[in-house]
Amino acid sequence: MTDLTPDLNNISLERWDHAVFRQNDLHVDVLRLDKIHPEISGNKWFKLKYYLENAKKEKKSLLISFGGAYSNHLLALAAAARLNGFSSAGYIRGEGPDRLSHTLQLAKEYGMELRFLSRSEYDLKKKSILLGNWEENDQNSFLIPEGGAGIEGIRGSEEILFLLPLRSFSHICTAVGTGTTMAGLMNSAGPGQKVIGISVLKGTRNLEPIDISWIRTGVNPAKIQMVHEYHFGGYAKYTPSLIDFMNQTFAESGIPTDFVYTGKLFFSVIRLAVMQLFPPSSRVLVLHTGGLQGNLSLTPGLLGY
Ligand SMILES: *Cc1c(COP(=O)(O)O)cnc(C)c1O
Repeated sequence: MTDLTPDLNNISLERWDHAVFRQNDLHVDVLRLDKIHPEISGNKWFKLKYYLENAKKEKKSLLISFGGAYSNHLLALAAAARLNGFSSAGYIRGEGPDRLSHTLQLAKEYGMELRFLSRSEYDLKKKSILLGNWEENDQNSFLIPEGGAGIEGIRGSEEILFLLPLRSFSHICTAVGTGTTMAGLMNSAGPGQKVIGISVLKGTRNLEPIDISWIRTGVNPAKIQMVHEYHFGGYAKYTPSLIDFMNQTFAESGIPTDFVYTGKLFFSVIRLAVMQLFPPSSRVLVLHTGGLQGNLSLTPGLLGY
């Protein structure tokens, strides 16, 4: 746990060199959003920004949201709430385990009240909240959708591409959980920029999990591509080859990735380059959206970093 405030000045753009990129004449850079803060890392800071602002405006004191045992969103919320003088509570999908995941343990250390619900209770709770009838619907609580997936989350994510002069990139690649971040990128990308999302969920199709209503009118569908083949078994699942890849990437580039999102993203970028999806002399931007603390739930020693 740390009381550091998120710092956008820590963000860097780092060249990612790889034989496959050289062979295909690609210039690939990684936007290190993971450096913003150890726990409010990557895209989470952008997704939460406007929810926090609204909660302040409305003079709310308790921030409530939803997530699973590995929810980087809940951890980021817990840390951001504490830094901004809010209390926080999280509904967790699945009965309370005997041992908390590292992510939830940290969220708890930041003062988040963890409320475990069975899967069916969790779904019911989400539904009743949508309908506006839930017991905490009082003047103190402010609700943030699961994964920050709503208008404010998208609006915050739209600002990622305004950080640096990133207009020169032809392709922008990001890992996709709820799709909130990718929707923001789609909305703010320039006309010549293509946004590629790597879904880390099993069984998604077409533009899923993105909701079409999140995309601004006028956004050209041709500049968007969702890739569904690299989930490695599904959300928070992994294989020895993914772990090997992450270790190798770190050894070669010095860039650490996480096994839930960015490891799968980096793997995909190499595959897409091998398949020559990027035309020669493309400039590819890969978003490092953070989540590194999630690696603590892996068996110690599996990763060399
Ligand atoms: C939450 C998260 C994502 C996915 O963001 P969405 O906006 O939900 O698609 C990607 N990478 C990391 C590291 C995350 O923690």
